[in-house]
Amino acid sequence: MPMQLRSDALKEKSKMYKLRSTLETLIPYTSETNPFPVTLNANEYPTDLPKEVKDVIIKKLTELNFNRYPLSDSSLRSKIAKEYGLQTENVFLGNGSSQILAALCYAFSDESSSIVYPTPSFSMYNIYAKLADRNGVGVELEEDFKFNPDKFLDVSKKENASLIILCNPNNPTGQVISNTDVEYIAKNSACPVILDEAYMEFYDESAIYLMSKYPNLAITRTFSKAYSLASARIGYILAAKEIITTLSKVLPPYNMNSLSLISAEVVWDMKDMFKERIAGIIAERGRVEKELEKINNFKIYPSQSNFILFKTKDRETTKLIFNKLKEKGIIVRDFSSHPLLNTCLRVTLGTKEENDLFITEISSF
Ligand code: PMP
Repeated sequence: MPMQLRSDALKEKSKMYKLRSTLETLIPYTSETNPFPVTLNANEYPTDLPKEVKDVIIKKLTELNFNRYPLSDSSLRSKIAKEYGLQTENVFLGNGSSQILAALCYAFSDESSSIVYPTPSFSMYNIYAKLADRNGVGVELEEDFKFNPDKFLDVSKKENASLIILCNPNNPTGQVISNTDVEYIAKNSACPVILDEAYMEFYDESAIYLMSKYPNLAITRTFSKAYSLASARIGYILAAKEIITTLSKVLPPYNMNSLSLISAEVVWDMKDMFKERIAGIIAERGRVEKELEKINNFKIYPSQSNFILFKTKDRETTKLIFNKLKEKGIIVRDFSSHPLLNTCLRVTLGTKEENDLFITEISSF
């Protein structure tokens, strides 16, 4: 018989322990826990790793000394650095780029400054700012989610930004910020400017080349999207040594696990095998966008990523479509509770077959 823990246990404890007030109101990130036949809600790559890649990973894992802590200077770091013409000290790995973004919020903020990012954008920026007990400021995007660099800079100056986070292509809108605008922000900001390029493989106009000119510009990337490796939780940041040293202060020792490091390094070594798969998603993006455009009363936001945001007639319709799709075993991302997106749904591009199922179901609205 399993133990029954009383649900009021934490409440009772809170009388004894001082809990951080931020945590009382913070709503934890949730995503669907049930497996769905058609999973189009988390911007993952729709299929597993290529068999050839998986076989190499499994072979390497059999050679791992499981009793040893991971090496802090993984060879993956130097391989990534070499690819981008950087030094190993300019690359830092994290448990997903999520961990790096959260750590940046801890490392580059204090009571008198703010963490500034556009909104709507990746919802976790705001949560990481709150977790660090910092002032997170979302600067609203313009009509059709266009980025206004002057407005953004004005707000970041007024709010005394100590960290800026931009997302390119932006999740969930799929829109992009031009590298001219990225440069303008980096040039005119006196704090680290983090460019979250989680979806860059689907757009291919990285701002990495700007880093040599602007040492405050840093770029985060992930293996979770284009590289079918969301399960391993591995991402990285490219940044000046000083940013990386500060960042590493707020993370525990032996932060990365060897199993993920091995998996990611094999994927990195074999990354040419992913080119065609990425091109396939881009082709599907064009096709699904066209199909969605045929549906009455939908507004489609052209995407440069592996998902498409679209707007329905009203909030009720959004909820209705979300629930109907769910009944049919298709899960997409519902934004009906988001103040700026409450008539919107976001669909991740799946396999051709999954996309066909989605189009068939949604075309009946
Ligand atoms: N940035 C953006 C914009 C994302 O959408 C996500 C994942 N949804 C992440 C970062 C985090 O990805 P991961 O932690 O898997 O690297």
